[in-house]
Amino acid sequence: MNYFIEKATIVNEGQTFLANVFVSDGLIAKIVPEGEPYDYGSAKVIDGTGKYLIPGIIDEHVHFREPGLTQKADLHSESRAAVAGGVTSFMDMPNTVPQTTTQALLEQKFDLAAEKSLANFSFYLGATNDNLAEVVKTDPKRVCGIKLFMGSSTGNMLVDQNEVLVRLFRESPCLIAAHCEDEATIHANTVRCKDLVAKGEVIPDAGIHPFVRTMEACYRSSSKAVDMAEKFGARLHVLHISTKRELSLFRNDIPLIDKKITSETCPHYLWFTDRDYEEKGFAIKCNPAIKSNWDREALRQALRDGLVDTIGTDHAPHLPGEKFADDYFASKSGFPSIQHGLQVMLEAGFDLTLLVQLMCHHPAILYRIDRRGFIREGYHADLALVDLKQGGVIAHATEFSKCGWTPYDGLKVHAQVTHTFVNGNLVYENGMFHEENKGERIIFN
Ligand SMILES: [Zn+2]
Repeated sequence: MNYFIEKATIVNEGQTFLANVFVSDGLIAKIVPEGEPYDYGSAKVIDGTGKYLIPGIIDEHVHFREPGLTQKADLHSESRAAVAGGVTSFMDMPNTVPQTTTQALLEQKFDLAAEKSLANFSFYLGATNDNLAEVVKTDPKRVCGIKLFMGSSTGNMLVDQNEVLVRLFRESPCLIAAHCEDEATIHANTVRCKDLVAKGEVIPDAGIHPFVRTMEACYRSSSKAVDMAEKFGARLHVLHISTKRELSLFRNDIPLIDKKITSETCPHYLWFTDRDYEEKGFAIKCNPAIKSNWDREALRQALRDGLVDTIGTDHAPHLPGEKFADDYFASKSGFPSIQHGLQVMLEAGFDLTLLVQLMCHHPAILYRIDRRGFIREGYHADLALVDLKQGGVIAHATEFSKCGWTPYDGLKVHAQVTHTFVNGNLVYENGMFHEENKGERIIFN
């Protein structure tokens, strides 16, 4: 079916203007200035009056848990949460069961997604201490990147042998997306915290998380990754920056397309601070830890200044029983967030024009995605209509993620995504899904 999206305010490439968009054969066929007649034939008209039409969000950092952890989430359930949040493309991490560490396992994931996902997709290959032969076989036109854990996290795919790291930075055929937290620092902090807990001097609640996964752990690892990338000429993207101190590692004096070292932060580092552990508890335990207000304010400014390039959600669902344990050390890190990334960032005071840059254009530029992430004629029709005045309250009950809860429960928001198009198909409409058409594999230039 073709669509004619009428009278919406288009937000694209720093500009805001009223226009109509004709969607045909999966593509943005024509952007028609408002008031100009256009023969859209039998296309279905979607009324965008009073709403904003943005390119579909590209979420470069998700954990959809399939295969192997589908009690928590799967490609179908989480892609529904994605499109409900205006996300039309995602890139999924390799810490599934089995871990995605061979080309064969990687291709199995693409096949699964083609059957189940409502959004477009790509998957990272995971690096380990012994799979370099698989890493070098990765096709940069068909795969988003290599995921490198420089420090342990959920799923434990740690690369800690220096000679392997050197070869990886030298030989990786595509972008390296790195989780940077220093394992030795975290281990020493964990031992010390357990000792203090045993002595009764510290209560093992969520508030100790930034004392285990500290600012130093982040900086030690991310500075090492940046050093190595510079030395060996790798294309490095440092994921989920959570501290002010790490910002000194990045540059904003070159265009994004020319940058070899880039960075991401996530909505939760821009919304919560360590003061929220008291109320939210383990709900906001994630790796790296949410840090101080000082860090949050610096990260918000860094996005405005171009030191941090993108916002990815790090959507990482766990079941309530795995999260809300009695003990800090038993509670899993991570939480669902893809459905509310845009809403929460708008509440944080970012304007929609900047968010379109950070969540749509920049991932498209940084990963060199083929014809997505912009509202341009000839591009894939990945689009979201946003109502900035519809309002509502985020609640566990309206969560589309399989795990059925959200750390943003109770948050009053002003914006809602009302319609989401993926490849020209209307897949989400005011709380309803149209599931006949599935997403496509993302291609890279
Ligand atoms: Zn992650």
